Amino acid sequence: MLQSLSIERTKTKKRQPAADQLGFGNYYTDHMFIMDYEAGRGWHSPRIIPYQPIVLDPAAKVFHYGQTIFEGLKAYKTEDGRVLLFRPRKNFERMNRSNERLSVPEVPVDDCIEAMKQLIAVDRDWIPTAPSTSLYVRPFIIATQPQLGVAPSTHYQFIVIMSPVGAYYSEGVNPVKIFVESEYVRSVKGGVGEAKTAGNYAAGLKAQELAKDKGYSQVLWLDGVHRKYIEEVGSMNVFFKINGTVHTPALNGSILDGVTRRSIIELLGHWNVPVVERPISIEELYEASRKGELEEAFGTGTAAVISPVGELNWQDDVLVINGGQTGELSKKLYDTLTGIQMGKLADPYDWMVEA
Ligand code: PMP
Repeated sequence: MLQSLSIERTKTKKRQPAADQLGFGNYYTDHMFIMDYEAGRGWHSPRIIPYQPIVLDPAAKVFHYGQTIFEGLKAYKTEDGRVLLFRPRKNFERMNRSNERLSVPEVPVDDCIEAMKQLIAVDRDWIPTAPSTSLYVRPFIIATQPQLGVAPSTHYQFIVIMSPVGAYYSEGVNPVKIFVESEYVRSVKGGVGEAKTAGNYAAGLKAQELAKDKGYSQVLWLDGVHRKYIEEVGSMNVFFKINGTVHTPALNGSILDGVTRRSIIELLGHWNVPVVERPISIEELYEASRKGELEEAFGTGTAAVISPVGELNWQDDVLVINGGQTGELSKKLYDTLTGIQMGKLADPYDWMVEA
């Protein structure tokens, strides 16, 4: 399919922001990738074109029924000028799992990776090189059929846009304060929580806003049935070091299968640090803290990589973790993962793919 890839270069290159202005998702590169889908014809017309608005019929299904999927991954420029992607296949495999759940047609994984590499090559001078910066790649699919019946769309677009980014949290890798959400839920098993689809994020905004008003960076989501078991922190997976063992909620159908989560479990395995995936209740966590056994807590995701949790508030019961400081293991995981990603450390697991 990609044999027919066409490339139209922009005639007016944008001015690039300075590294200290980047933030997360504020600027976009000069080009984008796009391809179309029609039932009966499959994916077709792959093209790289100047970054531009897309024109859609107001009846397009994506606007009404949210049939849309996205992914997120990063490209890094190494000191010796190579461009590295972190486990890109995992993202497109996950995209296909999300597609399956939302009745969106499967995408060809190899073609998507190749298309993304070609796009990165065209906008290579947009990859920032300052510490903690990278090029965030956002592939997404939208249902474009202009038809208001509630049924899977017959037409879609797959688009890749890219954004040079700095650190996700303005606080950097410092621990964040988290509000344990007891009223709202993000998802339930049987819903779409394990799919990377827009509705999950829209559903989380209200709680996030309320937590921000109370002075917290994010919420810790509890399960939707019992309001008891820990699911995720904001849009990150979550880990706890309790008495020398690392615990993370098991994938239960409502939690996203994070690439960073998987990589951390693998890293800890290689380091012989015991790690278990299981249901973890919030009471149990507070109990472990009371016994002095809760050593570290951190969120994991592509954007922030590791985000230490310094404080939890569950129904006004405030729990400070590791004196509000970044734990030793959190720091080691952050340094190792970012070191591998930036090409500064050896990559013994063959995670990095040259773009
Ligand atoms: N959970 C949710 C809900 C997310 O959106 C993300 C970000 N993709 C993650 C977890 C972390 O996943 P990953 O490590 O693949 O970025």
